[in-house]
Amino acid sequence: MLRIAKTVFLSASLTILLSACAHSPTGRNQLLLFSGDQMANLGQRSFEEMKQSQPISSDQAINAYVQCVTDAILAVVPPQADFSEWEVVVFDSEQVNAFALPGGKVGVYTGLLNVADTPDQLAAVIGHEIGHVLADHSNERLSRSQLATLGLTITGMSMSDSPYAAMAMAGLGLGVQVGILLPYNRAQESESDKIGLQLMHQAGFDPSASVALWKNMAAASEGAPPELLSTHPSPDTRIQALEKGVKALPQVPHRLTPRCQKPSQPH
Ligand SMILES: [Zn+2]
Repeated sequence: MLRIAKTVFLSASLTILLSACAHSPTGRNQLLLFSGDQMANLGQRSFEEMKQSQPISSDQAINAYVQCVTDAILAVVPPQADFSEWEVVVFDSEQVNAFALPGGKVGVYTGLLNVADTPDQLAAVIGHEIGHVLADHSNERLSRSQLATLGLTITGMSMSDSPYAAMAMAGLGLGVQVGILLPYNRAQESESDKIGLQLMHQAGFDPSASVALWKNMAAASEGAPPELLSTHPSPDTRIQALEKGVKALPQVPHRLTPRCQKPSQPH
């Protein structure tokens, strides 16, 4: 009897897999099990939790600066189907970190401004993080972890369990934060670097600042590694790929760099 249940389950899984194949903006095959709406909802809920639990910077100059750089990047991002507005929040924390969640939620930690020295370098980080959202990376990694969970539930299934019940259980057992903040893999990181480079270039920032940024990041990582590096690929590989990417971009004769003023003493 268990065998029948397994067969039903596997064919249901296969149907899901076949209908869930997609392509990322750079043409990579992706498995996406969740709808854009579901992901936006998860991202927004997770962001609200973070805003409740982490201190938010009240420094007006820093907020204006981060908003200015983010707005410049967003000016070249096409409208999204699953949410209407992007939101950026500056968290007051020494962590060298930033993130962007599905649903258009961007978080920047004040500690990042000690490493991202210039508006162009900050644009490199924000472009990279927004790249994760544009390429559905959270959906992809959540889909993978969900499949792993489903795989584990097969052995424990009885006849009364439908595959959909098992799936619902797996979904319920998954904490919002855990699911949405799993580390990205290397392919996703490289892809976000490429997208970020395009975005900052189109927005008028100097794309070579991305190379300077990751060099700063590597230097700052001596001792305790910054958060951004701990889940990202090796700095040397990344810097080489970015240098290549910068060279491949079309030349802009008269670049109109967005006027975002970095406050003199971030704290
Ligand atoms: Zn990343």
